[in-house]
Amino acid sequence: MDIANLIGGERSEGCGGFDNRNPADTRDVVGRVARGTADDMRAAVSAAHAAFQAWASTPAPVRGGVLFKAAELLDARFEQIAAEMTREEGKTLAEARGEVRRAINIFRYFGGEGARMPGLQTPSERDRVFAFAVRKPLGVIGLITPWNFPSAIPAWKLAPALVAGNTVVLKPASATPLSAWRLVEALVDAGIPAGVVNFVCGSGAELGDAMIDAGPLKAVTFTGSCAVGGLLYDRAVKRRLRVQLEMGGKNPTVVLADADLDRAVDHTINGAFASTGQKCTATSRVIVEDAVHDAFVERLVARTRALRVGNGMDPATEIGPAIDQGQLDTVLRYIDAGRADGARLACGGRHLTEGALAHGYFVEPAVFVDVREEMTIAQEEIFGPVLAVMRASDFDDAVRIANRVAFGLSASIQTRDVSRVFDFINRIEAGLVTVNLPSAGVEYQLPFGGTKDSSFGPKEQGPNALDFYTDWKTVYLRY
Ligand code: NAP
Repeated sequence: MDIANLIGGERSEGCGGFDNRNPADTRDVVGRVARGTADDMRAAVSAAHAAFQAWASTPAPVRGGVLFKAAELLDARFEQIAAEMTREEGKTLAEARGEVRRAINIFRYFGGEGARMPGLQTPSERDRVFAFAVRKPLGVIGLITPWNFPSAIPAWKLAPALVAGNTVVLKPASATPLSAWRLVEALVDAGIPAGVVNFVCGSGAELGDAMIDAGPLKAVTFTGSCAVGGLLYDRAVKRRLRVQLEMGGKNPTVVLADADLDRAVDHTINGAFASTGQKCTATSRVIVEDAVHDAFVERLVARTRALRVGNGMDPATEIGPAIDQGQLDTVLRYIDAGRADGARLACGGRHLTEGALAHGYFVEPAVFVDVREEMTIAQEEIFGPVLAVMRASDFDDAVRIANRVAFGLSASIQTRDVSRVFDFINRIEAGLVTVNLPSAGVEYQLPFGGTKDSSFGPKEQGPNALDFYTDWKTVYLRY
């Protein structure tokens, strides 16, 4: 088995296996993956529980040192891991390199938190009383991750969980276990004690239920779809587990009449089509002020038509495949729904099967115009290279349209007007705002997450990431 489960420091082959295939060419089997069972998940949670006290008692800077060492090892394996990610997930090699670099930076950033582990100290109201509060780890934490950032997302959950002194069980997406495994392998090679990090692959429903029902589990952090996040939440609250959910988006880019149109087009293309539109922060609606709508659309469509779709290992490729047949079918279904609802397909939208693309899940990037607010493609997350262009009469109308969805992850505005920028920051319902930048492209030093149906619980990344992974212990000490 190429990828086994890791339970209490031991490799476990699970119950049979499944193929990990390249979405750009399904004849290419990246590896065979051990299928973990509910029993494996329970064993993994128990192993994490057994390892907890010793790891929690290890000084936090020493725990951080393991993350630094793992980052060094990932750096040494950088090119190999990036190439594997392109084979496994389909994103371009440049995107995969960027993601592996980000995972390494995240390990380093949270390695440093080991030396800080910021607590609180304030003056007491009482004489000769010293008042302070320290962070304590929770115990065993379950991490469930999606396939679209197969290294960065596991990294931004593993690193704060571990440096805070928790032990973990990671259940990666079935489509991309290898990228997640490379992080776990680096931690093991860096000397993390057996049982502190456990890794179980297999069916999300079976393993997710077993994880949440396992007695010692204290918290679960999930990134994925709203549908699965909702199911997981219902189950977890019955056990009063701490829950963190990062889910979907329907992210707008607003283009005002005074924007630099060429830059606005660049940022829209990048936001909508990078990583094949398979980003939670991808631009899926571009809302354009009437006065520049037609000029913007003309440039946008010309640029979109020129994008090169192909295997991410080819340096000329700009857009890789959908992750699997299910996602490809979903994208094609939304393209049909857009047409049926009366939007006009200005370019793209074909399932590409010619030549070298015959064995992958490729679709031409699509731009719909004349999209109205109530249409399915203006309301539901598609998670593919499909962009809906919407017309707004003015700034207020653009903000109203932007906010008229259930989601609130990221939002972007393109304008030179600083007052409009601040009005937008104040009024837009989103956890992340970008100005004269694409809607996607975030950094690990600041909080990450959305509002409305996009997220639940404390934000990830940045210094406050520790809030989810720790409890406060407050001390009043008379001397
Ligand atoms: P998904 O289908 O919800 O799967 C996410 C993870 O949950 C996978 O590991 C999956 O395992 C597991 N899972 C499936 N059913 C489960 C269940 N019943 N209980 C517990 N776990 C279960 O999402 P995806 O298709 O991988 O990812 C795409 C979604 O993620 C999009 O909606 C995107 O917006 C969202 N996303 C959000 C963020 C953010 O930070 N807000 C970032 C990236 C992606 P299997 O793979 O084995 O099914």
